[in-house]
Amino acid sequence: MKTNSNFDLLVPNYLFADVAKKTKEFEAAHPDKEVIRLGIGDVTLPLAPVVVDAMQKGSEELRFQSSFKGYPDYEGYEFVRRSVSDYYQSFGVQVRADEVFISDGAKSDCGNIGDIFSQDNTVLIPDPVYPVYVDANIMAGRKIIFAPSGRNEHFLAMPDRRVRADIIYLCSPNNPTGAAYNHEQLKAWVDYALENDAVILYDAAYEAFIREELPRSIYCIEGARECAIELCSLSKTAGFTGVRCGYTVVPKELIRDGKRLYDLWYRRQATKFNGVSWAVQCAAAAVFSPEGQRQCRENLDYYHDNASLISSVLDELGIYYTGGKNSPYIWLQCPYNMSSWQFFDYLLDNAAVVGTPGEGFGDCGKGFFRLTSFNSHEKTAEAVERIRQLLS
Ligand code: PLP
Repeated sequence: MKTNSNFDLLVPNYLFADVAKKTKEFEAAHPDKEVIRLGIGDVTLPLAPVVVDAMQKGSEELRFQSSFKGYPDYEGYEFVRRSVSDYYQSFGVQVRADEVFISDGAKSDCGNIGDIFSQDNTVLIPDPVYPVYVDANIMAGRKIIFAPSGRNEHFLAMPDRRVRADIIYLCSPNNPTGAAYNHEQLKAWVDYALENDAVILYDAAYEAFIREELPRSIYCIEGARECAIELCSLSKTAGFTGVRCGYTVVPKELIRDGKRLYDLWYRRQATKFNGVSWAVQCAAAAVFSPEGQRQCRENLDYYHDNASLISSVLDELGIYYTGGKNSPYIWLQCPYNMSSWQFFDYLLDNAAVVGTPGEGFGDCGKGFFRLTSFNSHEKTAEAVERIRQLLS
């Protein structure tokens, strides 16, 4: 037998392992210093009480034959899909419940969605971005091209009409840069996709962090229902990184190669996925209830306040950055022309603060650095003070 030789093409990414190793070594050498982690990519606040109550109630129902639940629907229970549809409606976007698929998270869907597309397609991926899009398509053996971005574009890659692509990944607000597209910029992507008969895979995992007047869904853009699939997650919105739940929208108008992509995705899910557990779907529906939204918003505000603290010191120091306003991520240019790793060492050695070197997210991340707002207020404030003293 042969293994999938595409795995040989994956570039080993030791970034997070190297960050952990260097941090551990520093802590061992300086037991007196408290290291503050602003590299955390996971949420830290607990679930909203109303969400836990719903999960407990759902679990309790499994105790009795009268309310026991076996296999769920492949696309998710209707009441959960309806709550997602109502959620979209709350910010003015029409998504019908029968276009929604409930899943165990956006990471799975970002990779699995490739099953419905031919291996011959060319995939366009922004740089820098969440590395899963690249690795999933290398494994599938697709040709990948990049849409570079830097300071000139404020890290919002735009389409280049000289380049042709079939599948386009977009992530807004972006991980790692925190930058979010405006209406006009997304319209340019939708027009480009329609001109190329391409499909946009729009990752809206951080839409709930948007504070400014910016699109929270690709479906805010005219024409998007004919060219875009949207993937979303409750991980960062509602603290579901460990609970696992997300959703994907495939509009019924979306047709390629004479086939409805909804039908292909339904068939794929029915074949390889047996749904999300009852208790978790109850919890997900609770996220979208008015009380769930209020309680989740408190957590989002907490992270937002941390992001504002970090942004304010960068403003004060005159350091270029993106993100922070509509995202838990702050993406800064390393001072003194340092490389990402030089700045990592400098910050760890002199301030005992840990962040993430930008080059882990693509070549365009070289010389940049990601800080996150997922630590506590106290530790974030202390880290910000140390950064102020170090870089003033
Ligand atoms: N998409 C982006 C852009 C992310 O940053 C992440 C997690 O960091 C995910 C998807 C993963 O989401 P989930 O936890 O729902 O799999």
